[in-house]
Amino acid sequence: MPVEPPSSMEGLTSSEIAGFAVGALLVGATVAAQRVDGFIATSQRTSLGMCKKCGDLRIVACSQCKGIGSVRKGGIFTFGMLDDIYESLGAETKTTNLVPCTNCRSKGRLLCPECSKVR
Ligand SMILES: [Zn+2]
Ligand SMILES: [Zn+2]
Repeated sequence: MPVEPPSSMEGLTSSEIAGFAVGALLVGATVAAQRVDGFIATSQRTSLGMCKKCGDLRIVACSQCKGIGSVRKGGIFTFGMLDDIYESLGAETKTTNLVPCTNCRSKGRLLCPECSKVR
């Protein structure tokens, strides 16, 4: 008597499932590393009396386009993370979906909001 597989696994091969698992691990590791890095940098700057956000550069990288000046059509928060992983794995970089960033007007940088508030 064969055991029926759960309905959620239908249509998925074992290699596809493994791919999802690796992708999830990569996302988790990347996010964790960025958070730790940001936390250390912020505490160091605070102890030095520098601006927490920009380190007295008065300029910060645009958070929407990550300083590139363009964003992917359809939203960086939906597919940007996955595309980053594919790029880091050596896959072809898709540039056709890039549009100029409206947040920084394609400059990739913005005046530091902390400094412009205080000074
Ligand atoms: Zn600043
Ligand atoms: Zn931008």
